[in-house]
Amino acid sequence: MTFSGDFTYESRPVRVVFRPGAAVTATPGEVEHLGLRRVLVVCGSRGETVARAVADALGDSCAGLHAEARMHVPVEDADRAVAVARTAGADGVVAVGGGSSIGLGKAIALRTGLPLIAVPSTYSGSEMTPVWGLTEGGAKRTGRDPKVQPRSVVYDPELTRSLPVPLTVTSGINALAHAVEALYAPDTSPLIALMAEEGVRAMTEALPRLATDAADVEARGQALYAAWLCGSCLGSTTMGLHHKLCHALGGTYGLPHAETHTVVLPYALAHNAPAIPKALTVLKRALGTDDPPHALWELAGRLGAPRSLAELGLRETDLAEVAVQVAGQPYANPRPVTADGVRAVLQAAYAGRRP
Ligand code: NAD
Repeated sequence: MTFSGDFTYESRPVRVVFRPGAAVTATPGEVEHLGLRRVLVVCGSRGETVARAVADALGDSCAGLHAEARMHVPVEDADRAVAVARTAGADGVVAVGGGSSIGLGKAIALRTGLPLIAVPSTYSGSEMTPVWGLTEGGAKRTGRDPKVQPRSVVYDPELTRSLPVPLTVTSGINALAHAVEALYAPDTSPLIALMAEEGVRAMTEALPRLATDAADVEARGQALYAAWLCGSCLGSTTMGLHHKLCHALGGTYGLPHAETHTVVLPYALAHNAPAIPKALTVLKRALGTDDPPHALWELAGRLGAPRSLAELGLRETDLAEVAVQVAGQPYANPRPVTADGVRAVLQAAYAGRRP
């Protein structure tokens, strides 16, 4: 990448502990480091066993366990979690789980100002961003607020060993999408390019190993490290067409988050490719290919991930409506976003044909 000396980069204070076993062994220390005495642990129903182990490790510093996180943070869930935190007299929140659990923790932090510690168990990257999301009446709102950025992140590769292979692959490609769009974001920078390149390389090396052996702790560590880098890219830049499309497909049509990212990414990248020569140079190097959109599509197929919106349950008759919705919003993207252009991307993603 040729050096461009015109950028703004803001880094936010966050402490990271990265170690196998850290969820249980390091979280109490992070609570203490932040001077907290009564933290509420939040998680989803499927992650309760691990979250309970974290809660037990916290001993008297744990004010309760709230296992009600669900995808896309419905606003009534946020209301209930805030009430639970207040009733428990919590002075902080520990979110254990994927983007949904961290999202619920962020919703509490947004309303109450309580500090958040994240213990991620997927590759969503939410722990590295000041972005929150809430769903009300079928529409998902998102925003940025430094209050919701976790103060401490505990990365524990052991925690991700239970992530089933299909979710490992799609969650990993969700992380790649953050790095890809960060490379052509209006607020990208040489630092972002470094993190994105390393994140893409590390994740695409780790995923095939994990598809063969989901319990490979070294590959788990590499994927989690990649998720950290890709999440940092997401937190520091403005996302474009790809994320807007996935947001609309998830928020309005209820399509699953990581799977949708996996299907859409090769097509969104192919659409933007003519306008992003620098980003493509980085991606070609990171992926070891001359054709990054094809390489991403091929990787998803080889590792058994879904490759078409049809497979995810979208109806072909919905494509026009999504295209109008996405093209109607003003946002940064390297190529102009027209209804026809978006529709072409969607049509290709619907069919799942080679980008
Ligand atoms: P998720 O948190 O909903 O988890 C998906 C499923 O996997 C759940 O059933 C969960 O219980 C299970 N799971 C999680 N970790 C597991 C593990 N280690 N072992 C076994 N099962 C496990 O999904 P996600 O993809 O991590 O997050 C998606 C949500 O996060 C979406 O709502 C998305 O909008 C949000 N998100 C937000 C940001 C942000 O910056 N704010 C970034 C990325 C994603």
